[in-house]
Amino acid sequence: MIRRIDLRGVAAQSATPLDYRAVVPRAEFDVEAATHAVRPILDAVRERGLEAILELSARFDGVTQTDVVVPPAACRQALEELDPAIRAGLEESIARLRAASEQELEADVVTQLGPGARVVQRKVPVDRVGLYVPGGLAPLVSTVLMNVVPAQVAGVRSLALASPPQAEFDGLPHPSILAACALLGVEEVYAVGGAQAIAMFAYGTGPCRRVDMVTGPGNIYVATAKRLVKGEVGIDSEAGPTEVAVLADDSADAGFVAADLIAEAEHDPLAAAVLITDSEALAAEVEAQLDKQVAATGHAERVRVALGGAQSGIVLVDDLDQGVEVADAYAAEHLEVHTREAAAVAARIRNAGAIFVGPYAPTALGDYCAGSNHVLPTGGCACHSSGLSVRSFTKSVHVVDYSREGLAAVAGHVVTLAEAEDLPGHGDSVRVRFADGEA
Ligand code: NAD
Repeated sequence: MIRRIDLRGVAAQSATPLDYRAVVPRAEFDVEAATHAVRPILDAVRERGLEAILELSARFDGVTQTDVVVPPAACRQALEELDPAIRAGLEESIARLRAASEQELEADVVTQLGPGARVVQRKVPVDRVGLYVPGGLAPLVSTVLMNVVPAQVAGVRSLALASPPQAEFDGLPHPSILAACALLGVEEVYAVGGAQAIAMFAYGTGPCRRVDMVTGPGNIYVATAKRLVKGEVGIDSEAGPTEVAVLADDSADAGFVAADLIAEAEHDPLAAAVLITDSEALAAEVEAQLDKQVAATGHAERVRVALGGAQSGIVLVDDLDQGVEVADAYAAEHLEVHTREAAAVAARIRNAGAIFVGPYAPTALGDYCAGSNHVLPTGGCACHSSGLSVRSFTKSVHVVDYSREGLAAVAGHVVTLAEAEDLPGHGDSVRVRFADGEA
C-alpha cells in the first residue's frame, strides 16, 4: 500500500554531504503542474467577474447560483441550529487559539540612536484580508477559526471569507462553516470555492472588493492560485494538500503512527503521509497496522490513493541523525516525533510547519484544539515560510524621526556615501538643510 525508500548506507557512500530533497517523496501533480489549469480560471474571473465565477461554480461544484453573497441572516440561522456539542468544540478551540494568538502580538520597536535620532518599527495590521475555507471533500469548519482568530487579534479591519458552494445546501457553504462565521462575527461571506475564490479576492471582481492579502489552505488548485496572485496581493504561505511526516524509532507505537498517517491521508488523494525511521521492525509493524486500520477507516478509498501515491512512503534511515536530516529536507507541514527523548529530537528540527512532540500530540490535536494554527506551509515551503499566525496579518512600517541635531550628527556620512554612489542630488538634499555651514 505504501512504498519504501531505503536511504540506509547512502551517506557512507557519498564523499559530499547529501541533499535529500531530491529523494524524499513528493506528489507528481504539484503546484507547478496545476498552473496550466489554474491560470485560465484566474483570467476568466479577472475579465468576466461574477459571470465567470457562476460558470466555474457550476462546472466544479455542481451548483446553479445567481448570486454568491451569503446573507448574514443565513449565518445567524446556522449558528442557532448548530449542534451544541459542535459549538462547545468550536468555543474551546477559539479560546485556546485566541490565548496563544494574544501572546504573539508584538510591540513597536523603538531605537534611540542619539539626541534627536530615533527609528521606530511600527507594527500595523493589514487592512483587508480574504480568508479561504476549504469545502470540497470535507467542510473544514475548523479552518474558519484558524483564519479568523489571528486576523482579529492582529486587528485586521476588514475580513471577507469564501468557501465552496454546496449543492445539498442550496448553493451556500456548509452550515457549520456559516455558523462559525456568525460565532466569530464575520459578516462578509461568499459561496465561492477553489481558484475562482482566490481570483475574486485578489482582483476585486464580482461583488467582492479587492483585498490586500489572501490567507488559508486549500487543495492544489487553491495553493496554485495563491502562488499566481502573489505580488498582486500578499499571501500567507502555500498551504496546499496536507502532509504528515513521522520521525520514529523502535520505541514508537506502530498503531499510533499508522493512525496518524491515515488521519492526514484522509484529507485528499494528494495528501502525503511519510514515515522516517531507523527501525525496519517498526516499518513492518506500521505497514501491517496500515493494512488493518485502512480497511476500517471511513474514507478508505481516498486514504489508499494518498498512501499509494508518489507523495507518500516509508523512508528507512541509518540512525536518527540521518532521520533529522531527511525530515529537514522534506520540511513537512506536520512533523510528529515518536522517539525516545522526543523533545530533544524535536529541538533539532529546523524545517517543519508545526512539530508534534511524543505519542500524545497527534496531528489531529493541532487540527482542532491545540492552540496552535493548522494553516501551514506544504510542498517543502516550510524551509522558508511559517504557519498562519498574528504575524502573518501584521506588517512593519519604519518611522524615521530625526531632528536638525540628529541629522547634523550624521550628515557628513550621508553626503560621502551619496558621492560614492555618484548620486550628488542625495548629498545636496542634506547640504541644503545646513546652508549656514553648521553641519
Ligand atoms: P477546496 O475548497 O480546497 O477545493 C475545492 C475547490 O476546488 C472546488 O470548489 C473547485 O472550485 C476546485 N476544483 C476542484 N477540482 C478542480 C479542477 N479539476 N480544476 C480546477 N479547480 C478544481 O477543498 P478540498 O478539495 O476538500 O481540499 C482541501 C484541501 O485543503 C486538502 O488538500 C487539505 O489537505 C488541505 N488543507 C491544507 C491545510 C494546510 O494548512 N496546508 C490545512 C487544511 C486543509
